[in-house]
Amino acid sequence: MFLSLTRPTPCPDCRTPADWVGVQVLVGDALRWDVEVACGSCGFAVAECGGELSDGVRESLLAEHGAAVLHFTTPPRRLAVLRVLRESAGVGIAEAKEALERVLAGEYSGTPPEMELLARRLRAVGVDVVVSAQAARRCSG
Ligand SMILES: [Zn+2]
Repeated sequence: MFLSLTRPTPCPDCRTPADWVGVQVLVGDALRWDVEVACGSCGFAVAECGGELSDGVRESLLAEHGAAVLHFTTPPRRLAVLRVLRESAGVGIAEAKEALERVLAGEYSGTPPEMELLARRLRAVGVDVVVSAQAARRCSG
């Protein structure tokens, strides 16, 4: 499963508009962020695999593709969920409890690969979850 973002960028070699493509991909039990630049004019190509996904680019991914939301399909075993949330996010018990409340309220969201990764980890400990697309943001006011 992957999510990609394409942006125009000047080719580093010939300066004609080239494609900058960022891909967030779920590989096994980890998320990877790959970036590549490919120029159709001169054939310049470069790829950087396993880079750092910045908050700004992540926002663009969410804006372009929408967020995914995690839902329990049956009432979960809270301790198992808390443990996975703590380990996945590297947070303390208080933050994990808050995250659990957000999942229960249908408010725990992220990019589809991020949520799928969490869903895999939860399923691995026997928690039934599904990942669904979040409804488009409504205008407020
Ligand atoms: Zn070029």
